[in-house]
Formats: sequence, structure tokens, C-alpha cells
Amino acid sequence: MKKENLLSLSFEEIRSLVETLGWKKYRADQILAWIYKRFAGDFDAMTDLSKTDRQDLSEVATFAHLRAKSHLESADGTEKFLFELEDGKQIETVLIRSEKKRRTLCVSSQVGCTLDCRFCLTAEQGLKRNLRVDEIINQFLTVQAILPEGEEITNVVLMGMGEPLANLKAVTEACVRMISPTGLNLASRRVTVSTAGLVPQIKELLSGPASVNLSISLNATTDAIRSEIMPKVNQLYPLRELMKACRTLSFPTRRSITFEYVMLAEVNDSLEDAARLVQLTKGMRCKINLIPFNAYPGGRYQPSSDEQILKFQDHLHQHKIRTTIRKSKGRDILAACGQLTSQFAD
Ligand code: SAH
Repeated sequence: MKKENLLSLSFEEIRSLVETLGWKKYRADQILAWIYKRFAGDFDAMTDLSKTDRQDLSEVATFAHLRAKSHLESADGTEKFLFELEDGKQIETVLIRSEKKRRTLCVSSQVGCTLDCRFCLTAEQGLKRNLRVDEIINQFLTVQAILPEGEEITNVVLMGMGEPLANLKAVTEACVRMISPTGLNLASRRVTVSTAGLVPQIKELLSGPASVNLSISLNATTDAIRSEIMPKVNQLYPLRELMKACRTLSFPTRRSITFEYVMLAEVNDSLEDAARLVQLTKGMRCKINLIPFNAYPGGRYQPSSDEQILKFQDHLHQHKIRTTIRKSKGRDILAACGQLTSQFAD
């Protein structure tokens, strides 16, 4: 009989598995708590199951955390993990430490990426494959398990390698487990899916069981520039269609969309762009997050100057648009936005 990976199973499927073993129902809750609340790394750690029970379980199921092949720590406290998957492929996960107790885990959804955004290093790999739900959720479990006592991951952003909405089914199930009380029990506003703008999938995600926060990587204010820097997605869903969809999304209680905007010198950072951004977002409940471009070896773009970013922000502020500038973390270990490639420097 083929063994089931416990992390490939939904909570319901774990309950059925426990029934097939002829165990009492509460046993499923014990197992789920070990996995999602106590971050056990293997069956042996599940000490309120007897040794024979653990043995029986291991005959029908498998369970293990991811294998960290390497691990880098930035001067600013950001940590980057390189995980090796069963088929030898590699993904990166980044832990960002910010004010007070906020710990944000930046999770990957694909090996490589479906899309071809010209300013992103991950895109250069192409798509190797989608991650499975167990591989997505396991990034959280594995990192949480090795954090020092008292340090807890408080937020998750699906902004690592890949386009999450090109892997919608697995990403939705992973989000469900993140926000479920039986699972990681994070508030849904603490889980953010970031997309380059796959319109039908945005609607599907938000009308499904995982109504989490949404970030849209807008990055341009005209189709000409957006098609130049994000060719694939903008050909499928041009700006007008994307913005129309954003306007008609129904969010739970007063939640707003975040538009991310990577600042590329002389490409999308003029005050005319800022003025067009005001028009594009007029009347929407939204926030704009300006991302200083993180350069990488061989990249074709240059970062906007700090002065230009501040001018751009100032223009948006004058029009009463909430605008933040993302502090890039982990640049020294290539852990910042758009720098993830699963190739670690020695
Ligand atoms: N595919 C998803 C999630 C991954 S990218 C998306 O597009 O949203 C996460 C964010 O990093 C996006 O907003 C993207 O625009 C930004 N980004 C990509 N490359 C970057 C780079 N080199 N410097 C700064 N931000 C970058």
C-alpha cells in the first residue's frame, strides 16, 4: 500500500485515515495539533501517541519537515532558507524580522515561475514545476520549528518564487490551512497572496474558502510599459481589465487591496506615472507600496533614486493615496523581492 504524506491530506482526510486505523476520533485532533500547533518534525515527536500507535501510523503514512540545504542570515536579521525537495529541485523561503514581534514568512509557490517579468530574477529560470500543497505549508512548519522559543511567525506573504495564482488549487488549500483554527490559526488579514494579475484566478481565490489579503503587482501605468516589463500577464489581462476586476472585487469588511509598484529608473517612475496611478486607482479602497528595485547580476534595469521615489510618493500623498515605501530587507544575501533563484552563493 502506498503511504500517504500527512501534509498532502486535508484535515478531513486525516480524520478518515484515523478511522481506517480503527482509532478513536480524538486521535486525529492530537495528530493535527502536533503538526500545526506544536510543529513536531516527525512521528517520534508525537509523544502522546504510544510507541505502537506511532509505529502503526508510520506504516500507513509519512511525515517530515523540509530539508534545509543551506541557510543564510542577513545583517538585518532576515534569514533565507534553501530547501531541497524530494525530486532534488530547490526553493527558497525568507523570514523577515521587522518592528517588535512581527515575523513575516515569504513563501514560494512554484519552482521557478510561470511568468516572465523582466525585472525579476526568478523569472529567468522559467517554470520548473508547481509546488504541491504539502510543500507550500511545510515551508511554514519547518521554519517555525527551528525558531527560538517565543518567536512566532505572525504573517505569511506568498511572494517568494513563483506566481501563486498560477498554482491556484494548492495555494488555496495552503491558505485554508493557514487561516483555519485547526491549522495555523492565522487571521486571514495576516496572509497575503501576491499576484502579477491573473484576473479569473483573483476572483476565484477571493470567492473561495480562503479569502485572504490581496496584493497586485501593478508596476506600470500604461499598457505599453506593462507589456514591456511584464509581457505574459499583461497580454492576457491588460491594465484596464485588471483594474476593472479590482474595482468589482467584494472584500470582507473594509479590507483594501495593496498595489505593489517596483520603481525602475526612467521606466515607470516619472511624475506622469504617478499622475496616471492616481487616475487608475481613483475611488478605490487601496494602498500603494513602492518597492525600490533590487538589482541583481545581469539585470537590465536600474533602481530609481531615493529622491525620485520620495517625489513619486509625495505626489500620491497629495492625492490622499496611502503610499508606503518598502524597506528592502536581506539584500546582502539576495533574499529581497525578485532576487530569489535557489542558487546560493558559496
Ligand atoms: N508573482 C507574484 C509574487 C512574486 S514577486 C507577483 O508578481 O506578485 C513579489 C513582488 O516582488 C512583486 O511585487 C514583484 O513586482 C516584486 N519584484 C520582483 N522582482 C523585483 C526586483 N528585482 N526588485 C524589487 N521588487 C521585485
